[in-house]
Amino acid sequence: MKDNINQLIKPITTTVNSIGHLEIGGCDLVELAKEYKTPLYVIDEATLRGVCKSYREAFSDYEHVKFLYASKALCTSAITKILDDEEFGFDVVSDGELYTVYRTGVDMKKILFNGNNKSVDELKMAIDLEIGRISVDNFLELATLDKIADLKKKKVDILLRITPGIECHTHEYIQTGHLDSKFGFDMMQIDMAVDLIQNQYKNLNLKGLHAHTGSQIFETKVYCDEIEILINELVRIKKKFNIELKEINIGGGLGVRYTIHDNPPSVHDIAASIINSVKTHCEELNYPYPLIYLEPGRSIISTAGTTLYTVGSKKQVPNGRKYVSVDGGMADNPRPSLYQAEYTAQVANKANKDKNEKVTIAGRYCESGDILLNEIKMPKLEAGDILCVYNTGAYNYSMSSNYNRTSKPAMVLVNSGQSDIIVNRETLEDIIRNDVIPSRLR
Ligand SMILES: *Cc1c(COP(=O)(O)O)cnc(C)c1O
Repeated sequence: MKDNINQLIKPITTTVNSIGHLEIGGCDLVELAKEYKTPLYVIDEATLRGVCKSYREAFSDYEHVKFLYASKALCTSAITKILDDEEFGFDVVSDGELYTVYRTGVDMKKILFNGNNKSVDELKMAIDLEIGRISVDNFLELATLDKIADLKKKKVDILLRITPGIECHTHEYIQTGHLDSKFGFDMMQIDMAVDLIQNQYKNLNLKGLHAHTGSQIFETKVYCDEIEILINELVRIKKKFNIELKEINIGGGLGVRYTIHDNPPSVHDIAASIINSVKTHCEELNYPYPLIYLEPGRSIISTAGTTLYTVGSKKQVPNGRKYVSVDGGMADNPRPSLYQAEYTAQVANKANKDKNEKVTIAGRYCESGDILLNEIKMPKLEAGDILCVYNTGAYNYSMSSNYNRTSKPAMVLVNSGQSDIIVNRETLEDIIRNDVIPSRLR
């Protein structure tokens, strides 16, 4: 079971207790909602650690592999602490993520900084903190980084982010590796970049190539095609420039199971294809096995996360849909309105009841598009029921906003019947914290 966590809809510890309530991590979800209020993000530690372990085990046959958790999926200090403990490094994409990881006490050598438009201040911060790698995205960044490194008298180890030109079948907004993408060097620009690094940018030390083809990927072939392209490039660069690059970063993207219609490959399936692909191409082309970096985000944290809401008002449109509103929505989970993302939900206090009512779960925000779940079967819902939406660990809190001036929810970590706050609920004071009324208006 543990080997296939990304193929599960619910956290591995999900059960129904003797009073018919759902439990996760040994904690009754109805009790959690009472104690911490809703909306509430619940993270199951066993599921999170379980998926980390399956990554380590699945790749244990390949000596040179490093896991960099894509922090953008969910970056808080406690989550960072757990992933550090699970021997993961971190892929960061902003000063805020870098700062979180730094303040949590992670070894800065385990950090890779990604992004298509890192600011000068962010690059300075990365160099000052002496992070492990910077994935350079474009020509401007090469020049800027070399200049900063020169001023600071430091050498910087870099990867080149490239666009391998692979289409993966995912939502248009989460595809990144196709040719007409804002990310990375085009295949035709690689030689020019390598040439500049070798001959002009003396403070940059090129370690390897980086690609990321997209997110919520269900086909192992995407990784195999990508690896073939990356290794072909390593071989070509060796021939042309006489340098043997020793690292490839193949990105993240492994899918998860939001609904029964999603069928992602397991971590083990993906690992077997990746290792096989790397070994086959390297042997064919007589190139030494490279260090492989993986940057999984969603597949690490999604299944561990569940969001609890309290049911409120209802509306039956005459001859139309039945809407049931909850106390959260697009501000704590923008994915349904951004990507038409689908989810699976249950009623925490009615786990054993028959699902005989078709309803649309609406959020509380002032947008018609704020719908969390469309036309799903539920037990008869009443005000005060606790709705739990599964697979909300990734890209929910990290994409959340204060839209409508609402407070961001709290987050609790559950394990063996214990619950601990890992993010406090925002207060009304937090809402106005950064507001300033200029004196001339007073
Ligand atoms: C977003 C992103 C990831 C993580 O993707 P997931 O689908 O969450 O695994 C990894 N690498 C890069 C460069 C990214 O932009």
